[in-house]
Amino acid sequence: MFSYRHAFHAGNHADVLKHTVLLAVLRHLVQKDTALTVFDTHAGAGLYRLDGDYAQTSGEAVDGLLKLVSSELPQPVAPALQDYLDVVASFNAGGKHTIYPGSPFIIQHVLAQRDRDKIKLFELHPTDYKTLSANIAQLEVGRQIAILREDGFEGLKKFLPPPSRRALVLCDPSYELKTDYARVGAMVADALQRFATGTYAVWYPIIPRPEAHDLPKKLKTLANKAGKPWLGATLTVKSSKLLKDDEGDVVRPGLPASGMFIINPPHTLKAALAPALAHMVEALGQDQNAAFALESGG
Ligand code: SAM
Repeated sequence: MFSYRHAFHAGNHADVLKHTVLLAVLRHLVQKDTALTVFDTHAGAGLYRLDGDYAQTSGEAVDGLLKLVSSELPQPVAPALQDYLDVVASFNAGGKHTIYPGSPFIIQHVLAQRDRDKIKLFELHPTDYKTLSANIAQLEVGRQIAILREDGFEGLKKFLPPPSRRALVLCDPSYELKTDYARVGAMVADALQRFATGTYAVWYPIIPRPEAHDLPKKLKTLANKAGKPWLGATLTVKSSKLLKDDEGDVVRPGLPASGMFIINPPHTLKAALAPALAHMVEALGQDQNAAFALESGG
């Protein structure tokens, strides 16, 4: 069984990027009344305590969400980033950030008033599945949300195309297994054949590893081949160079950057993300390598 637990990473800079983009895409999709299905192929536990044991072991939110909320952001804050901050704050009473909403809860937050929409969550890890199920049960939303203890890469297939003919697929694996990179590519290739008009959002780490380097290229090729527009957003907070500590031992720098690749993005997304990403760089950047990029095509 895998050992990756998102609780260690909840609220880090990658989550800030991923969830700001997710929210912006969802906000656009719900402007239409017609039913929408949202798939989260790697859902995680749903809610995380930022003051719990897991989060404190690595404390990654300290350099992510918590840094963001304590920094003096330029005013007015970019609307897409402000929306993200407001949504996270809505899970936290009294202005203290002790709870972090993962993607299932961000999705449900946006779809809360829309009974016609469906949410399908895949989570394979037994403990996270159990926690997710318990967290979702508290929402008492009945059949709007289905939780499947299945492999999200494979499980998605049987639902495409969805009856609603409008769907967003979030694909957010841990990439703990090297094979995840190829599986993401294969899943998107298959999904585009079954349902070419769906919106696909894939998160990936930017690390010095060939598979990680190749994934956004592969996704670009798939979108171009399908004749579909795409948008790539990346956030770098620091250099990826290995550092040495006082004893001369090599220290891993932790995740320096990540990206979100979206196929069939809302046409408003690029313009909405540019100022939000600029504010993220300003607040979360750790050295002179901090930067964002937005690239689109199709
Ligand atoms: N999407 C979540 C969020 O934004 O809050 C975080 C997900 S976390 C990065 C990845 C999750 O995928 C982990 O909880 C892990 O247990 C789960 N997982 C790993 N392999 C999987 C698979 N093949 N199918 C479904 N879930 C899987």
